[in-house]
Amino acid sequence: MPVLPITRLEFKDKKVLVRCDFNVPIHEGKIQDPARIDASLDTIRYILEHGGSAVLCSHLGRPKERSAELSLKPVAEYLSKALGQKVALAPDCIGDHTGKMIEALKPGDAILLENLRFHKEEEANDRDFSHELARHKQVYVNDGFGSAHRAHASTVGVTRFISERAAGFLMMRELEALRAVTENPQRPSVAILGGAKVSDKIGLIRNLLTKVDAILIGGAMAYTFLKAQGVAVGRSRVEDDKLELAKELLAEAARKGVKIVLPSDHIVASAPEAGATPHTVSEIPSEMIGLDIGPDTAAAFIAEIARAKTVIWNGPLGLFEIPAFAGGTMRVGEALANQPGVISIIGGGDTAAAFAHAPWASKFTHISTGGGATLEYLEGRELPGVKALEV
Ligand code: AMP
Repeated sequence: MPVLPITRLEFKDKKVLVRCDFNVPIHEGKIQDPARIDASLDTIRYILEHGGSAVLCSHLGRPKERSAELSLKPVAEYLSKALGQKVALAPDCIGDHTGKMIEALKPGDAILLENLRFHKEEEANDRDFSHELARHKQVYVNDGFGSAHRAHASTVGVTRFISERAAGFLMMRELEALRAVTENPQRPSVAILGGAKVSDKIGLIRNLLTKVDAILIGGAMAYTFLKAQGVAVGRSRVEDDKLELAKELLAEAARKGVKIVLPSDHIVASAPEAGATPHTVSEIPSEMIGLDIGPDTAAAFIAEIARAKTVIWNGPLGLFEIPAFAGGTMRVGEALANQPGVISIIGGGDTAAAFAHAPWASKFTHISTGGGATLEYLEGRELPGVKALEV
């Protein structure tokens, strides 16, 4: 069943519940990275310009109870500046006081509801809470792709009570980007995988083995694959209980004709710390830890993606938070960003964070705002928040 884009709905004189993902990093009341807020501005503006009143909602963090640190107040202030109009913060997401504020909204007005997760009923997808959340609104727009893998009241429950619904522009962009990788991708198609653990990416690897022509594996998870092949990995991070699985995945790739490229050289150090001296090696000494792919591996990865028409990337290729071990991720990232004609999709979470300040990052086709949601989509799982939008 189809999911309608926001452009198919009428907003004039309607109150619109807009589920966004404003779960942004906030430190001492200051937003550290507003990318997720910026990504939904076009959706909000569209509703306001078409005569709707936008009732914005989101979760923030994982509050056990109501707390000032996890208030969406900084987001309301940011939105007021970005939209050039007052966006008031309602004291709650449900209740009489908030209801009155919503009733008073005029066409073109916007309001932000307080953190949805101040009510445990949000995550429980509670029916009565969903009903309350839907009250006073005639239309529902979900633009919070980063929360679409959760079946919560604001992503699923409310759709029982609001029949007019659509996906916002960000949601549409995210789904289009992921479809470009998973449904008849332009080939050759390549996946770049990294990050800490194989165990987090088993479903992802299995599904990608049916979609792509090659998988380039870096990050700590590469060491489990290398050890499974009998390669010495020193004290690198390895999941010993996943060695058999790694062997199976490599065999499955060979059966399916999917090329797997593992690191052939490494940046190692005696400790995963900022002060540790990095060395480039092709064989990891027994006392050393592999913390990034080496230059030959980066060159091999770049040669693979140079042939590709579609590239999906999930997970950093090294301990990128420490500059000495970020080189592999950044070198391959820059080459991919600058490659003409390739569709390049960067999965969210840490991979997006690694490129957040790179000047060439804007050249990627798409940087996903969803971490878990992107991963689940690429594992081939249905996202409940997308399913609930179907009409
Ligand atoms: P994930 O959440 O599984 O994508 O893992 C991301 C984390 O893996 C990041 O914090 C990286 O710093 C970390 N990481 C990547 N490569 C390595 C490595 N070789 N050793 C230790 N940590 C790594």
